This record gives sequence, structure tokens and C-alpha cells, in this order.
Amino acid sequence: MSFLDKIGFTKLKEGLTKTKEDLFGKINRLVNARKKIDDDFINELEEIFLSSDLGYDTVETILNNIKERAKTDKYETDAELNGLIRDEIMKIFAVSTSAFKSFDFGLKKKPFVIMVVGVNGVGKTTSIGKLAYNFKKAGKSVLIGSADTFRAAANEQLEIWAKRAGVDIIQNPGTGDPASVAYDTVKAAVSRNTDVVIVDTAGRLHNKSHLMEELKKIKRVMQKVIADTPDEIFIVIDATTGQNGLNQVKEFSGALGGVTGIILTKLDGTAKGGIVVKINNEMKIPVRFIGVGEQIDDLQVFDSGDFVDALFGEK
Ligand code: GDP
Ligand code: GDP
Ligand code: MG
Repeated sequence: MSFLDKIGFTKLKEGLTKTKEDLFGKINRLVNARKKIDDDFINELEEIFLSSDLGYDTVETILNNIKERAKTDKYETDAELNGLIRDEIMKIFAVSTSAFKSFDFGLKKKPFVIMVVGVNGVGKTTSIGKLAYNFKKAGKSVLIGSADTFRAAANEQLEIWAKRAGVDIIQNPGTGDPASVAYDTVKAAVSRNTDVVIVDTAGRLHNKSHLMEELKKIKRVMQKVIADTPDEIFIVIDATTGQNGLNQVKEFSGALGGVTGIILTKLDGTAKGGIVVKINNEMKIPVRFIGVGEQIDDLQVFDSGDFVDALFGEK
């Protein structure tokens, strides 16, 4: 069993209630009303998908595949039609989430260093608390680095999350030198033989180039301790921000020479859960985790199968 498999899927269904009611409520009504695949069916399905933030290219691919299959096979019952749609959404995911399956924090390296980036308010600090909690629960030792030294409150907030998760934190409030905190964190993790390091960073954007330089410096300085660190750079994106989220991925990824994964938060607060599919497919960067609430156990390892099953109410 991989390390990530041990992290449970408790609240996925609840967290996706809005998307489920909206997207799949509409699909069910469409299937009920139309009963067969004709132009009206396809047009209405297109509208439903687009309104859920699936993204134009993804929607066209799904619809073309559905039309293609409808040429050779009959889809007549509600179950057959629903099954066909579900199938094609699954296929779209399969393209870009396969790498996720082999992802394993446990074996790759020690300490395994994760740098977390993203703009203000998306849920970085909260997600770090949730990640730390889950890693600890899976039997790993965790050290959090408080490299958002810009606001004193940011440090206090991270400290509260570290306490909740029951893990240690390295901080140096008042330094104004986030790279130094990151350096100390990785150094401490090496000497304590810690399994996982998670480094929080600032996200203020009023001076973008300064923020990007600061993040680059954090990365560079951690590499003075371990040459090929960090192992992951996760960008946190708020699911309710739509296209903006995609632009953020581009910005941070460009500055940092790539990000390795996405933590998509606040899916519980939106009916536009289709953004997961869009981000996966357009950015070719896997969504690793999804946030489905504000509590410590409201973070899910993202699995496309579970996601689609939760939406279709099959689990
Ligand atoms: P940061 O500025 O990126 O560090 O963001 P924070 O971690 O401080 O989070 C900003 C706000 O978003 C807080 O009020 C969090 O409780 C909230 N938040 C974070 N993740 C989620 C989530 O998955 N669902 C919901 N509903 N709220 C979230
Ligand atoms: P340079 O700026 O690339 O020449 O490298 P420096 O050795 O001056 O270090 C740059 C940054 O790395 C500093 O601002 C610190 O943030 C961090 N750093 C380097 N060495 C240490 C150290 O021994 N302790 C701490 N806390 N930070 C360090
Ligand atoms: Mg924060």
C-alpha cells in the first residue's frame, strides 16, 4: 500500500455536493427528458458542461467521443446514457492523472521536501495544516517551515495549524527573511531525520516580481542544504476563481521553473467542480489534492475515479 493510499476519503461526497447537484442534476434531467442522442441532446449537454467550467476544448473532445460512439451503439435507457457520459468524463481524466498513481512520498527521499506556493487567500496555510495532519496520521514525522514572514499573523495561523496537526514548526517571526527560515527548516529536518518537510510561503501580489524573486530565493537557499530539493512544488488554487486560477499556475510555474502539482481548494463552495478536469487537461499538471472544507480532515487525495464516482453518486 502506498503512503498516499493510507490517507482516507472521508468527505469527498459532501464536499462536492454543489457540483453534484448542479452538473449531474442537469445531466440527469437532460437524459430523462431526451432519452436519445440527437443534436438537441448534444447542444444541451454542451451548455451544461461549459457552465460547470469544464473548459471548451475538453467539452468538445467529450462531445465528439459521445457522438462517435452513438453512431455505432444504441444508447436508449437512462442508465446507458448516464453510463456513456460518465465513461467519457473518466477517459478525459485518464490522459493526465496516470503519473499520480506512482506518486509516493514514503519511499522517494528523506526528508521529502514540499514547497507550497500560491496567491493570498487561496488556502495555502490551511492546506499545509491538513497535509501535515494526514502525513502524521500515516505515520510520518513532519516539520513545517514558516516562510511567510511578511505578516506576523501568517506565522501565528501556521503555528495554530501545526498544533492541531501535532507536528513541529520552524519559525523566526520578525526576520523578514523567508529564505533563512526555509534554510533552517530543511537543515533541522536533516538533523532530526524528519520524513516530510512542508514550507509555507507568502502570496501577496502587489509586487509580483518581488514575490517571484523571493520564491526563487527560497528554492535556491534550500538547495544549499540538499542539492536536488524541493521534491514537490505544489501550487494552491481556489476552485471558485475559474480562469484566474489557470493564469496563476502559468505565472508561478514560469517563475519557479515548473510546479509539480496542484492543490485545488474550496471545491465545497462551488458548483463548478468541472474546473478540476480543465486544469488537469489544459495545464498538464496533475491535481494532487482537493480541499472540500475548512476542517483539518477536509483534504482529499485526488483520484479521478473517486471524483467521478462521487459526482455520479455511485460511492
Ligand atoms: P493562504 O493565504 O493561501 O494561506 O490561505 P489560508 O489558508 O489562510 O485560507 C484562506 C481562507 O480560505 C480561510 O478562511 C480558510 O478557512 C479557507 N479555506 C481554505 N481551504 C478551504 C477549503 O477547501 N474549503 C473552504 N470552504 N474554505 C477553505
Ligand atoms: P548568496 O546570497 O547566494 O551569496 O548566498 P548566502 O550564503 O549569502 O545566503 C543567501 C540566503 O541563504 C541568506 O539570506 C539566508 O536566507 C540563507 N542562508 C544561507 N546560509 C544560512 C545559514 O547558515 N543559516 C540560515 N538561517 N540561513 C542561511
Ligand atoms: Mg497563508
